[in-house]
Amino acid sequence: MSLKPETLALHAGWRADPTTKAVAVPIYQTSSYQFDDTGHASRLFALEELGNVYTRIGNPTTDVLEQRIAALEGGAAALAVGSGQAASAFALQNLARAGDNIVSSTDLYGGTWNLFAHTLRDQGIEVRFVDPAYPEAFVRASDERTRAWYAETLPNPKLEVFPIAEVAALGRPLGIPLIVDNTAAPLLVRPFEHGAAVVVHSLTKFIGGHGNSIGGIIVDGGNFDWAAHPQRQPALNLPDPSYHGAVWVEAAKPLGPVAYVLKARTTLQRDLGAAYSPFNAFLTLQGVETLPLRIREHSRNAEAVADWLAGRPEVARVIHPKHLKGAAAERTRKYLTKGFGGLLGFELAGGREAGQRFIDALKLLYHVANIGDARSLAIHPASTTHSQLSPEDQVRAGVSPGYVRLSIGIEHIDDILADLSQALDAASSTPMRAAAE
Ligand code: PLP
Repeated sequence: MSLKPETLALHAGWRADPTTKAVAVPIYQTSSYQFDDTGHASRLFALEELGNVYTRIGNPTTDVLEQRIAALEGGAAALAVGSGQAASAFALQNLARAGDNIVSSTDLYGGTWNLFAHTLRDQGIEVRFVDPAYPEAFVRASDERTRAWYAETLPNPKLEVFPIAEVAALGRPLGIPLIVDNTAAPLLVRPFEHGAAVVVHSLTKFIGGHGNSIGGIIVDGGNFDWAAHPQRQPALNLPDPSYHGAVWVEAAKPLGPVAYVLKARTTLQRDLGAAYSPFNAFLTLQGVETLPLRIREHSRNAEAVADWLAGRPEVARVIHPKHLKGAAAERTRKYLTKGFGGLLGFELAGGREAGQRFIDALKLLYHVANIGDARSLAIHPASTTHSQLSPEDQVRAGVSPGYVRLSIGIEHIDDILADLSQALDAASSTPMRAAAE
């Protein structure tokens, strides 16, 4: 039965607890699982039989979340990890070793930029950054040691949709998968439909939706022919000495097209241990149940805010997918057919000082380093989320000094606009008052 997202969000991966008949997914708050006998234990360890071994590797509550997100993205299987950062790191470390490289879009969340430009580089994995406006740049930056390409669907702060289909199509004949961080556009864009091979999410944002848990997930599209490119993808095609010589494309065959995520779970999660807490999986599942409703409301409210800000004289520029021009506007029309998402940005004519005064004057919107909460949020990226980037890299990532980022929630639009209005008034009137005093 092919179910719609609204239905999958409530049903995928679960019917009822077989023992108690509980309908809500139970929190299996256990570290380990009783084996039937020594034969059962050794079959589980040898991957001859699937089952629960240890919560670092897998947990029944988390398993429901993994199946549900895989279903919503249209992927084959998923692995939940301790944060969105861990998901991005594992997604690349699963394919690339010291000496290999990755080509990534410049338009990234600041934390991902730091991971790529510094931590992965220190581990011997070079990340080469290219301008996502030019799909061919990914090919030009690649060589025989390039293992993957990476991008965000709707990167903040620029909010220019990444050309997923255009770039993925260039990589496939070369054996290079496109990994897409879809954190800002769950359900709005389904990257596998456009040719991406792997999707990662920070579960912390729209998917969890209530600002209560940090989490991440890696979804295997099951749509990439790793075995056809043994030289390009040695990690999945050569015997893995860390798992008694398993060749992952072979080992996964009885389970389906899940070699990529099977390896991530059985090696990286086993060794680096970014386990997802079953309690957080439960909370995140509560969020997923209303994701289709919330994402519609986030999109509707944010669009109304963007249109309203565009008419305010204090606002020099509004950054929202609907308000883009040229090729970026065309990509908005092609990819964002179900809504523009909850994020937007704007620049006040008064620059950095006006932006900071605006944030200090907010009463309803929270001033936090987060996005995708059901509540509306605001931040000044240049002095916070992107502050560890050099000024030049901030500009490359689209963070100008006066930029204010909003993540619009699902409150009543009148209340959101009233708070923005009084904060804009305060931001523009404060210096005059100060001068008069
Ligand atoms: N990807 C994007 C697009 C993000 O915005 C964030 C966090 O802000 C992350 C990844 C990292 O996720 P987490 O904070 O859950 O580690």
